[in-house]
Amino acid sequence: MIKSLALSSLAAALLLAGCQAVNTTSGGAVGVERKQYMFSMLSADEVNQMYAQSYQQTLSEASSKGELDKTSDNAKRVQNVANRLIPQAPRFRPDAANWDWEVNLIKSPELNANCGPGGKIIFYSGIIEQLKLSDDEIAAIMGHEMAHALREHSRESMSRAYGIEMAKQGAGALLGLGQDSLSLADTVVEYSLTLPNSRGNENEADLIGLELAARAGYDPNAAISLWKKMEAAGGSAPPEFMSTHPSSSSRIASLQAAIPKVLPLYQQAKAGK
Ligand SMILES: [Zn+2]
Repeated sequence: MIKSLALSSLAAALLLAGCQAVNTTSGGAVGVERKQYMFSMLSADEVNQMYAQSYQQTLSEASSKGELDKTSDNAKRVQNVANRLIPQAPRFRPDAANWDWEVNLIKSPELNANCGPGGKIIFYSGIIEQLKLSDDEIAAIMGHEMAHALREHSRESMSRAYGIEMAKQGAGALLGLGQDSLSLADTVVEYSLTLPNSRGNENEADLIGLELAARAGYDPNAAISLWKKMEAAGGSAPPEFMSTHPSSSSRIASLQAAIPKVLPLYQQAKAGK
């Protein structure tokens, strides 16, 4: 009762602050139907453009250090997985067919991977090598990451933060927004790359990622072996990926419960090849 009251008053505050209730994706076989509050002054295009700039900067820095890997076997594997996953994205939101998707591999010991707003994917070689990822497991990570982008979780978190601030302080609090594009760009990167995702967002990304991978013909059971490897790699120095994608005991159980929903899609995709 108290929880639902707090949620509805937050929703009311967000609506008052100029947020619109939307659903960025269709539910899919996994049934992700949660309404999201998006701040209308912060368009998806704007967030995508900001993120694309920082993505290009990351690539050119890696390139200048000789760490941008376009040719290794792992680079080809990551590219091949993306080539199969990306065509599945429009099933969740048709406009993803027009996104400027990119995928790159950076040579680095980091155990990390990301898909930023607008479909900009980066894998670090460390996560593939140290966790000895199979193609199915690469697809599990990439699908999960693509799902965060499709659901616009970064823009949603930013909207929530701005909406709460605006409800507290009035419109004056937002005067800086849009004028100071540099700090806004930093905020986009912060919400996309460095802040831990909420458990709810993680669950949505797990479910949609599972379906994307299954539809592309990758074994959905790989999501289970992936998270087991991730947990085993934890210990004293948890992978960077786990700081932004906090694991929980319920994650594997929730994935396991969802696998039967996507298994027929996987079998269909396999039969079609
Ligand atoms: Zn995640």
